[in-house]
Amino acid sequence: MTTAGRAGAPASTDRAAELAAALATVEERIRTACAAAGRQREDVTLVVVTKFFPASDVRLLATAGVRHVAESRHQEAVAKRDACGDLDLTWHFVGGLQSNKAAAVARWADVVQSVDRAKLMAPLGRAAEERSVPLDVLIQVSLDRSGEAAERASRSGVPPRAAVALAERAAATDGVRLRGVMAVAPHGGDPASAFALLAGVAAEVRAAVPSATWVSAGMSGDLEEAVAAGATHVRVGTAVLGTRPPQG
Ligand SMILES: *Cc1c(COP(=O)(O)O)cnc(C)c1O
Repeated sequence: MTTAGRAGAPASTDRAAELAAALATVEERIRTACAAAGRQREDVTLVVVTKFFPASDVRLLATAGVRHVAESRHQEAVAKRDACGDLDLTWHFVGGLQSNKAAAVARWADVVQSVDRAKLMAPLGRAAEERSVPLDVLIQVSLDRSGEAAERASRSGVPPRAAVALAERAAATDGVRLRGVMAVAPHGGDPASAFALLAGVAAEVRAAVPSATWVSAGMSGDLEEAVAAGATHVRVGTAVLGTRPPQG
């Protein structure tokens, strides 16, 4: 009886070890990037992007010390958040935000990183006012230098020149607390120059709204460049959780 279950460790134990090892590697990368940039490790927050991975992984990550997780789809996120309601986690939304889903997202998310148009302010603000704490938001900036490419839905975000006006709208919305800017480096481009562009936009936004100090930039493949350019939040999925399962 005592030996029956000994043949192999439970799958969750293997997964826990796998996640802990990957987290340690990412942590080392962040630490090294901070040191190279002359920055403090505490100045960069690791947000683990758990989209397409099960709630059981979120639980293991929390046990391993992760405090911030991000999701990109409303429905999937709600289910996961419900399953992990007992965990002390900050939930970020990083997906494309439809106007008719904005209020629903604002009911479970702690931070909405993907605010990219003025039309979202009314629903976000309405839902945010029902909350006990303000809804933290970031303005998503498109770093695609070709305006035409930015029009395509593949990379969402407001053009850099429109970021300050949108930030001011967010800052003026009751229940919403503007924290800064977010961006994804364009595919195939040079992440360092993209993040330098974002740093300039972040400075303009901060000049208009001094409390907007967050810069969310950098993913599994380019977190070093983001930290070098001043990112305060890196959003890492694949490097922690592995290749994402096929999207349904
Ligand atoms: C999926 C996603 C990430 C994580 O990307 P990885 O390359 O897997 O680290 C980061 N930011 C956003 C907006 C995402 O959608």
